[in-house]
Amino acid sequence: MARNIGSRYTAHQILGRGSAGTVWLGEGPEGPVAVKLLREDLASDQELVGRFVRERTALLGLDHPRVVKVRDLVVDGNDLALVMDLVRGTDLRTRLDRERRLAPEAAVAIIRDVAEGLAAAHAAGVVHRDVKPENILLDMEGPLGPGGAHPALLTDFGVAKLIDTPGRTKATRIIGTPDYLAPEIVEGLPPRAAVDIYALATVLYELLAGFTPFGGGHPGAVLRRHVTETVVPLPGIPEELWQLMVQCLAKAPASRLRASELAARLADVLPLLKGIPPLDVDEPDAEPAAPEPYEDTAHAATAGTAPEAGRRRAAVPLVPGASADSHRDTHTSMRVPGPDELSGGPHGTARAPRPAGARRPGSARNKAGAVRKRRITLGLAAVVAAGALGVGGYLALAGDDTTPPQDSRPSSSQPAEQP
Ligand code: ADP
Repeated sequence: MARNIGSRYTAHQILGRGSAGTVWLGEGPEGPVAVKLLREDLASDQELVGRFVRERTALLGLDHPRVVKVRDLVVDGNDLALVMDLVRGTDLRTRLDRERRLAPEAAVAIIRDVAEGLAAAHAAGVVHRDVKPENILLDMEGPLGPGGAHPALLTDFGVAKLIDTPGRTKATRIIGTPDYLAPEIVEGLPPRAAVDIYALATVLYELLAGFTPFGGGHPGAVLRRHVTETVVPLPGIPEELWQLMVQCLAKAPASRLRASELAARLADVLPLLKGIPPLDVDEPDAEPAAPEPYEDTAHAATAGTAPEAGRRRAAVPLVPGASADSHRDTHTSMRVPGPDELSGGPHGTARAPRPAGARRPGSARNKAGAVRKRRITLGLAAVVAAGALGVGGYLALAGDDTTPPQDSRPSSSQPAEQP
């Protein structure tokens, strides 16, 4: 059933549903378009509409082959819509769901494309803030690149920022998808360009490994890992590529590469990746939880929850009041967990940071028993409410003069962009 969006566009059929609204295949004066119709509760928020109109120029001004072009913003009665170029293809999440892991050459080609798009956005002073596979579209009509990868385009610019209005998100809420959130956001610092680099490196890791470096379990546990844990190395990729990833996943934003640099360095690495098959790494939490004697199980039972059954992503609703979109695992807003949720306490997961290169308990290359043990421990992180220790207390202070933790590896001298 067709519906009019403003006076110039008609929406014909639903292409996909996201957490902020529904994307329609539409028609405009210049041909087919994609129309993202924001959710009604967002569209009826006057503060958000005002912001939407004010952001117009920045959003419409972003013009780069690796960024899905926003052509128009429509405010019409109860409708609030972004009219975008139509990308004929699929999103990266769909491809990842299908293939689980990509060959390194294709993965790097895709991330290189997105880094180029980010470089243009950052140069224009726009930070994306929600880089994740769902927001990377693959243009199936475009020419095939290295590793047979279709051109990748970044979409949803400005949507996270739009939703992050003072009235809509309280100081205790943060915007972003837990698996891809840079540690400085967890600390309550303002999101700068470097958050996009961290998120993009996380996506690259996920394309290669089949899982994100710090994902799994309760959102609070995911946030804590971003701040305290060191990324587990991936076997079978050239050292140059690994070093790039480590640099972009640095805890300190200033240690990360700029988007333009990352794009150039990824392009340099591409020839080394020819013919390397998808990596063979085990997902840390893939096995079903087996009941086994473990020091914390009694505590879990007391708390009335079972250990995690297999790997779960951090499912939280997009905005306060929205229902969780668990089947797509894409969520843009979450409450900063309270100290009780984050605290590892004597039975929880508030482990000391591991040295660079050390394995996370339960990581792909640890023994199966240890894998199960970690999963159980992570399940407990959701329920353990013992004293506010470590990151819990640390997060409670977000916004105060807390100092960002420094990455344990040597830092690049390159400052991140600060648009
Ligand atoms: P999310 O909020 O989860 O990021 P979106 O609302 O941006 O998702 O998009 C939902 C789905 O709509 C995407 O997964 C994609 O398949 C489709 N889509 C989004 N933008 C476009 C576009 N410009 N062209 C074609 N399809 C699109």
